[in-house]
Amino acid sequence: AKQAGRNCWHFYEAFMLQDTYEKMMLTNGLRRALEREELFLHYQPQFTMTGDIVGFEALLRWNSAEFGLVSPDRFIPLAEQSGLILPIGKWVLQEACRFARRLADMEKENVHIAVNISPRQLIADDFVDTVCDTIKKAGIKPGQIEFEITESALIESMEDSAIKLEELRHMGVTLALDDFGTGYSSLTYLMSLPVGTLKIDKSFMDKITDGREQLQLVGSIINLGHTLGLVIVAEGVETENQLELLLKIGCDHIQGYVFSQPIPEEEAITFIFPRII
Ligand code: C2E
Ligand code: CA
Ligand code: CA
Ligand code: CA
Repeated sequence: AKQAGRNCWHFYEAFMLQDTYEKMMLTNGLRRALEREELFLHYQPQFTMTGDIVGFEALLRWNSAEFGLVSPDRFIPLAEQSGLILPIGKWVLQEACRFARRLADMEKENVHIAVNISPRQLIADDFVDTVCDTIKKAGIKPGQIEFEITESALIESMEDSAIKLEELRHMGVTLALDDFGTGYSSLTYLMSLPVGTLKIDKSFMDKITDGREQLQLVGSIINLGHTLGLVIVAEGVETENQLELLLKIGCDHIQGYVFSQPIPEEEAITFIFPRII
C-alpha cells in the first residue's frame, strides 16, 4: 500500500511539474505574442430581442507559432499573473477603438464595442489616462466603448475602482457588470457603481430549461436589474428554447451561439450590413 501511495505521489508531483512547466512556456510565448503579431480579436454580436445588433463584445485570441490556438481561459490568467495583461490590455483597447472608428465611419456609432477589463488594468495608476488617450487618438465617441468588469475586480479595491469607473462614466464610457451571479453578487456593487448593464452568466442559461424555479430565479434577477434601471444581457444563449423563455421573462439583449459565435472583424461588418453581401 505504501508503495502504491508513493507512486501516486510521484505521479502527482510529475503532473504538477508538468503543469508549472507548461505555464512557464506559455507565459514566455505570451511575452513575445504582441511583437510577433500573434494576437487578434474576434467580435461576438449582441442583439435586441427583435434581432437588431446593439454591440459587439471584443474577445481576445492567441494563435501561437509554437502552441497553436490557445484558449483565453488558459492564457488570460497567465497574462494576469505575469502582468502582461497591462500591455496586452492596452493593445486590445486600441484594436477595439480602431474597429469602433470603422463603425463610426459607416455611421454605426450607435453599435458599441464591449471590452473586457482585468482587475490588474483597473488597478493600474494610468488606467483612466490610457483609456482617455486611446479613445481620443482613435477619434471616437467614448459612448462607443463599453467596459465589462467582473465582481472579483471590484472586490480587490472597491473605493479606488469606484472613483476610476466614475471618471470613465463621466467621460461617456458605459459599464457592464460581467458574469453576474457567479461571484459574491451583492446589491452594494450594483448600487454604488455607475453600472448601466448587467450580464447574466451562461451558467444560468444552461439551467433555465430545467424547470420553473431556475427560470423564476433569472426572472427575478431581470426584475431587480430593471428596478435599478439596468439593461439586462443574457450571455451564452445557445438554443431557440432558451431564447423564447428569455423573451417571456423580459430580458433585453442576447449574446450567444444561437445567433453567432465570436467572428473576425470582416465577418462582423457583414453582420451589420447584410445587404452588401
Ligand atoms: P467572458 O467575458 O465571460 O466572455 C464570454 C465567453 O463565452 C467567450 O469565451 C465566448 O466565446 C463564450 N460564449 C459566448 N456565447 C456562447 C455560447 O452560446 N455558448 C458557449 N459555450 N460559449 C459562449 P472566450 O472567447 O473563450 O473567452 C473566455 C474568457 O476570457 C472571457 O469570458 C473573458 O473573461 C476572458 N477574455 C477574453 N478576451 C479578453 C480580453 O480582451 N481581456 C480580458 N481581460 N479578458 C478576456
Ligand atoms: Ca465579458
Ligand atoms: Ca461573461
Ligand atoms: Ca466568463
